[in-house]
Amino acid sequence: MSIPVPSRQLFIDGEWREPLLKNRIPITNPATELIIGSIPAATSEDVDLAVEAARRALSRNKGNDWASASGAHRAKYLRAIALKIKERKSELAELESMDCGKPLDEAAWDIDDVSACFDYYADLAEGLDAKPKTHVSLPMETFKCHVVKEPIGVVGLITPWNYPLLMGTWKVAPALAAGCAAILKPSELASITCLELAAVCKEVGLPPGILNVLTGFGPEAGAPLASHPNVDKVAFTGSSATGSKIMASASKLVKPVTLELGGKSPIVVFEDVDLDKAAEWTIFGCFWTNGQICSATSRLIVHESIAAEFLDRIVKWTKKIKISDPMEEGCRLGPVVSAGQYEKVLKFIETAKSEGATILCGGTRPEHLKKGYFLEPTIITDVSTSMQIWREEVFGPVLCVKTFRNEDEAIELANDTQYGLGAAVISKDLERCNRITKALNAGIVWVNCSQPCFCQAPWGGNKRSGFGRELGEWGLENYMTLKQVTEYISDEPWGWYQPPLSKY
Ligand code: ADP
Repeated sequence: MSIPVPSRQLFIDGEWREPLLKNRIPITNPATELIIGSIPAATSEDVDLAVEAARRALSRNKGNDWASASGAHRAKYLRAIALKIKERKSELAELESMDCGKPLDEAAWDIDDVSACFDYYADLAEGLDAKPKTHVSLPMETFKCHVVKEPIGVVGLITPWNYPLLMGTWKVAPALAAGCAAILKPSELASITCLELAAVCKEVGLPPGILNVLTGFGPEAGAPLASHPNVDKVAFTGSSATGSKIMASASKLVKPVTLELGGKSPIVVFEDVDLDKAAEWTIFGCFWTNGQICSATSRLIVHESIAAEFLDRIVKWTKKIKISDPMEEGCRLGPVVSAGQYEKVLKFIETAKSEGATILCGGTRPEHLKKGYFLEPTIITDVSTSMQIWREEVFGPVLCVKTFRNEDEAIELANDTQYGLGAAVISKDLERCNRITKALNAGIVWVNCSQPCFCQAPWGGNKRSGFGRELGEWGLENYMTLKQVTEYISDEPWGWYQPPLSKY
């Protein structure tokens, strides 16, 4: 028996508020197709209220407000949030699993990462106190200069459904650590745990307006947030199509954006690998979280001399993956997130077939699961580089395969994509790994693994995968701006208007 989904309202100015239009969006459990609750649907008027609340929160107690308080002050709240999340781990993991269909073990792992991320940014907030300014040496001794980092202000955070609470945390934790006030707009397909984050913030007494959570549809709630004149920065994770719209609307107000978008990441497997180890990383790299990860290494590029044997191994590994209700013990692959996503992935597979590709395994609903948006993990060969399946992001459990003969060809195939988020190389020859790493056009390169992610290291991509980096110290900088302070320290007048102009 699963736990009930809490019925929540929008979280604005530290209070639960019904959306002004009073609309709600039903939540479907993708494993059962049953409605398990609902979330409030915010519209632009609610966005206005949240932005006003965030703005007020930054101007409250001027001089001792959230932004100008010490990092240690803000760190106390971040640590309290981390602790509460830890205490509610099993409940949050269950809610996450029911909402987006990820196996319970994965969801539990996410919740651990969430609380670790809040703790990590608490450390970085404290670190800001240790280095309040950076001195800059100037070529003129009549001037003194230093640089301070300041919070950027009110930030709009728009996040996807594949890691609902974790993606929210990747933005909320550094934003709060930096001293910003935030409005989080999670995906309408999976928002439950972000509303629980709001509940946690209320419980730990986070000052009102510092975090506001608005659930709702993209065009109705996300778009007005992204284009709001009183939002100083937008950070977005989601599809490249939506990222492009957000960038367009932000550009009208010259608003800074950070975009973490799609991917079609390669995994290059050389002939010298341990076949089983490489097989496990290959299928983990693509089927973890059901392939619904922007960084999924969904293009396997394998040396032709081991291709037949390697494909045999990965098919064997793939067939062993336990597909079940995500709550079931040992589940390793749940349903995709929604009916829409299910249809989309099936269409990709159908198109690949019609273009002449071969389905090596999967491609359909597992026989033992009659309900839910379940798909067998799918491996596709006989793929050409012009096929849609090779070029476009599927965001589902689909791996496509090509072979290579030499390093140059492997690099060319790997970089032959509009995206540049992740890439992986598997080989026992570390010198070769170094060469390939340098040649790959990607923001993240995994060597002899694929997908592990740590909140200390930067995350983000090149090309159409977006720009800017989240996580690590770079994630904190996303929410800060630099102020140069230059002081004239000479007793002499400046003298520009008092000839002779001999000072140079
Ligand atoms: P997907 O298609 O996989 O759901 P999206 O990029 O559409 O991915 O969604 C990611 C996030 O962007 C979600 O929170 C969604 O509501 C939001 N979103 C969608 N469209 C817009 C838009 N036009 N402006 C702002 N946010 C949007």
